Amino acid sequence: MKIHEYQAVEFFRQYGIATAKGAPAFTPDEAVEVAKTLPGPVYVVKAQIHSGGRGKAGGVKIAKSLDEVRTYASQLLGATLVTKQTGPEGKQVNRLFITEGVDIEKEYYVSFAVDGATARVVMMASAEGGTEIEEVAANTPEKIVKEYIDPTVGIRGYQARHAAGMLGLDGDETKQFIKIVTGMYRLFMAMDCSLVEINPLAKLKDGRMVAIDAKVNFDDNALFRHKELEELRDVTEEDPKEVEAHKYDLNYIPLKGNIGCMVNGAGLAMATMDIIKYFGAAPANFLDCGGGATAEKVAGAFEILLSDKEVKGIMVNIFGGIMKCDVIAEGIVEASRQVGVKVPLVVRLEGTNAEKGKEILSSSGLNITPADSMADAAQKIIALIKA
Ligand code: GDP
Ligand code: MN
Repeated sequence: MKIHEYQAVEFFRQYGIATAKGAPAFTPDEAVEVAKTLPGPVYVVKAQIHSGGRGKAGGVKIAKSLDEVRTYASQLLGATLVTKQTGPEGKQVNRLFITEGVDIEKEYYVSFAVDGATARVVMMASAEGGTEIEEVAANTPEKIVKEYIDPTVGIRGYQARHAAGMLGLDGDETKQFIKIVTGMYRLFMAMDCSLVEINPLAKLKDGRMVAIDAKVNFDDNALFRHKELEELRDVTEEDPKEVEAHKYDLNYIPLKGNIGCMVNGAGLAMATMDIIKYFGAAPANFLDCGGGATAEKVAGAFEILLSDKEVKGIMVNIFGGIMKCDVIAEGIVEASRQVGVKVPLVVRLEGTNAEKGKEILSSSGLNITPADSMADAAQKIIALIKA
């Protein structure tokens, strides 16, 4: 789950990470009110969208007076920003973050993320701040220093000092850097983050080290431990299909193909996508509806699949283990009646009470094509969407 910069800055403050002063604004009037509380005479008006690269896309404006704050705020609110990360359709700006303008001497990069290969949290830092770190990683990887953190002891002083040395920081800057990265690591662990990033971390002309940008992403699988984060969610930034899936507690990821998949279990869902690919077509999504597939959940899943205009057919692949196939079949029939499925629907049921389940499907009077195996189901749905 992503949050906005101004929300991430709140976490930075809680964890003692130095940031520029600022507050959110939703109207030009509010933007001016916020600016009046800041030191001035230079302010920064920043578009709040769930995307990086705002600076290059014109989403970060340096204002030299309160009048300019109002002008930029009016320009940005309601505008659509197209950044490297938004895709060509861009994202509409509905919120702003107004900060004090600071005098930057040099920009650095620092982040914490999970490294899959070592199964550890990794700190990455670079003297090439402000630019896109992906480009630094691709062209000059030696300019990024990585410190892998042992979870039993946490980040060590020597790791922070080593990174500071690689960035060329002096003694006082190193002290500030250690405080910042220690706060970032504590935040990362305490809130089950998947990313905590500062780009740029700025060294100011007055010697202070300050976070000029703030990015905090949370691990979706740990959100149940942090119910309070739900109110930070900005659903206008998310794919409506994913928002809907979250409501039904479905694990859903939209993809580019045209065969909608409804499966129980993540492993089976991946195998289902594989077999669709194997027979020459492409899945429209990953969808794991979990162990407790109630009729309501199945209906919700169908609605999401059908709201995707690219979906030309649906393949249901259920292995009834704890759930019984007849219960699932009833759910499918009920959901099909409720939602009105107009595209071909192929259902493969296996496991406990599979025979009873198939009987329910065939006597339902609905246009459901039963399948005997995964391969059979994949071939049948592909044939049907081509027909
Ligand atoms: P991003 O482009 O979405 O990553 O947005 P950032 O928040 O990183 O802002 C982009 C750039 O704007 C930064 O890299 C800075 O160079 C510049 N910037 C932001 N705030 C200030 C400021 O207070 N003073 C100065 N001089 N530049 C700033
Ligand atoms: Mn940035």
